[in-house]
Amino acid sequence: MARVQLENVKKIYQGNVTAVHDFNLDIADKEFVVFVGPSGCGKSTTLRMVAGLEDISEGVCKIDGEVVNDLQSKDRHISMVFQNYALYPHLTVFENMAFPLRLDKKEHIYPWSEEELAKIDQKIVALKAKPAPTNPKAAEKLEEKIEKLEESKKRGKVVKGYSQDEIFQKVTDAAKVLGITQYLTRKPKALSGGQRQRVAIGRAMVKDCKVFLMDEPLSNLDAKLRNQMRAEIILLRKRINTTFIYVTHDQTEAMTLGDRIVCMRDGYIMQVGTPTQLFDMPDNLFVAQFIGAPMMNTFKTTLNKKGDKYSVTFFGAEFPITGEKLEMLKEKKIETRDILLGVRPEHIVLANDKSKASIPVTIQVNEMMGSEYHLHVVTEDGTKIVVRIPTIHLSDEERESLVGGKVINITFEAKAMHFFDPKTEVNILASGNPVPSAK
Ligand code: ADP
Ligand code: MG
Repeated sequence: MARVQLENVKKIYQGNVTAVHDFNLDIADKEFVVFVGPSGCGKSTTLRMVAGLEDISEGVCKIDGEVVNDLQSKDRHISMVFQNYALYPHLTVFENMAFPLRLDKKEHIYPWSEEELAKIDQKIVALKAKPAPTNPKAAEKLEEKIEKLEESKKRGKVVKGYSQDEIFQKVTDAAKVLGITQYLTRKPKALSGGQRQRVAIGRAMVKDCKVFLMDEPLSNLDAKLRNQMRAEIILLRKRINTTFIYVTHDQTEAMTLGDRIVCMRDGYIMQVGTPTQLFDMPDNLFVAQFIGAPMMNTFKTTLNKKGDKYSVTFFGAEFPITGEKLEMLKEKKIETRDILLGVRPEHIVLANDKSKASIPVTIQVNEMMGSEYHLHVVTEDGTKIVVRIPTIHLSDEERESLVGGKVINITFEAKAMHFFDPKTEVNILASGNPVPSAK
């Protein structure tokens, strides 16, 4: 349980590679934050700086209010799970999970057993039964001895590291949560990838930690297992209820796991927000296209203002803007201008109603995804558009018509439009923050 603060954190690797530029983030206690972005954008580097596995070149990292820049990893009270499970091949699953507990040599206090208490009592009684020494120093010593025993009785047993019982308890509890109890006596080589990853998570779980760090923990698993483990991480999070930082390049993982997402590119934070904020109101084109799959479509076009009304011109058709987006445009007093129009594939629909503005397109490819079609279509001028159509409401006739070579009409909802500045790639209705970049 801890707040994690990163203030103006920078990482310059040897050879002058700046992997992370001026990273600022305040992570609340028990928050689940996901760092997402393409490979090489600095996610792992940032995480490893929090973990103490990489030096912080500039700036400050605080855990629980304490500056940890100079603290060794083992003193930061963090647990970490890596993409490559890093299990010890010669140890059983139980011993792999027990490993961090056996390594921990800090003093722990346990309650005395009844037998042990009886023994202490016996000792005290025996000391008290002794005839009082005549030498005052000896009398004092005897007194001290009795006092020490009384104190120890009250405090409990001091043990360096964890007791065998507690190690057993912690490992078997974690194994139960992860469903790997039956494998505790096996060696890692006799486990599947998913089981190994569970052991790696279990090993991180047994430690009492303030912050749980995960670096692409599911990347080595096949798609089906990844979905299952993603759901398990949501449950795990509820159980261990601590602060999480989770690194992934997978936007689905980011969207489903994060309370907040930090979307990164080239060592810069592109946007921080809830999954809904990033999806509905991306600050810039990069975030718009990184979050959501298939990627958001974009079109160079004009945003037209006529009095109080706004519209976009789209392949000759005029699409009026209504609702919340209209209010925002009015409030920001946006004038007629060139824009890059963004529309997500799931917000484009088949236009059966001829009264609405629509555009004709030709289907090139129809990818059958099961519950939906991904239609790759092309306009008369050769612009490519991806459209996501749920299959459940389609008649057999409609399904048969959605094949390569067919011409269909498409339209979209005004609320699903996003407007970007074609040069700066900033979302003209969002925060207005310039897009961070080294250029
Ligand atoms: P991500 O985890 O987002 O894929 P990384 O944090 O691993 O990205 O890497 C960020 C950048 O830092 C990359 O350009 C990478 O090549 C560079 N980098 C990572 N580790 C080192 C290192 N030890 N020395 C030099 N450059 C490194
Ligand atoms: Mg990485």
